[in-house]
Amino acid sequence: MRVVVKVGTSTLAYSTGRINIRRIEGLCRVLSDLKNRGMEIVLVTSGAIGMGVGKLGLSGKPKDMPTKQAAAAVGQCELMYVYDKEFGEYNHTVAQLLLTAMDFKNEERHNNLKNTMSRLLSLGVLPIINENDTISTEEIKVGDNDTLSAMVALSVSADKLILLSDIDGLYTADPHKDKNATLISVVEKITPEILALGGGEGSSLGTGGMATKLRAAEICTENGCEMIIINGADCNLLYDLFEGKEVGTRFMANTEKMRHENDND
Ligand code: GLU
Repeated sequence: MRVVVKVGTSTLAYSTGRINIRRIEGLCRVLSDLKNRGMEIVLVTSGAIGMGVGKLGLSGKPKDMPTKQAAAAVGQCELMYVYDKEFGEYNHTVAQLLLTAMDFKNEERHNNLKNTMSRLLSLGVLPIINENDTISTEEIKVGDNDTLSAMVALSVSADKLILLSDIDGLYTADPHKDKNATLISVVEKITPEILALGGGEGSSLGTGGMATKLRAAEICTENGCEMIIINGADCNLLYDLFEGKEVGTRFMANTEKMRHENDND
């Protein structure tokens, strides 16, 4: 099974921008174990800007583009250093790929990406992907790693995309504001009503930005890949997921439903 896992800044780092050692260690341990089981894993990671902010001792997230890009350049090193060290402990080799929207849109670049990914996976390497923030301007950027991870999932023909979030999944209402909100465990089809649960641009149900997650779900499921949102605070939920237990919110693929349903058997 080929799985793309996306992890967000709030799972990996504290609000200070310093890494959450317990979380990152737990994530690398579980992903290494799943790889040992024979799964092919691709990790899409955020956190470069956040960690750059921490490392440079900036007072908060920079507003201007050059400082943001400088923070990303510093933070990306820190991020890869930690992943290399953690996955290395479990004898797994990592590779870094920094992408922009052009790498998917331009046929030649996309073919290069697909060939590299396929070779890395056949070599047993764990590819770690982030957006190339240091050169991404408005015109060429994907903009958020939820969408980027959906594009990666399609590009590598993944069976599943798993988004690790700071919320348990998609709720019927904002669980921070409405105590009657309940978790939706399965979304069979992404309807306008489901999309409306993500809120508008910049507002979301969780702090994780549900709108971009629902957009990612749309991209994935329309192309036959299922997507699952689970809470990144407990990486062991990944074991539960692959043991067929109901965790988080599962967005069923529109096509090839049978193939994906059987994955959990
Ligand atoms: N590429 C950004 C970073 O590494 C994160 C984008 C996102 O969180 O969606 O800081």
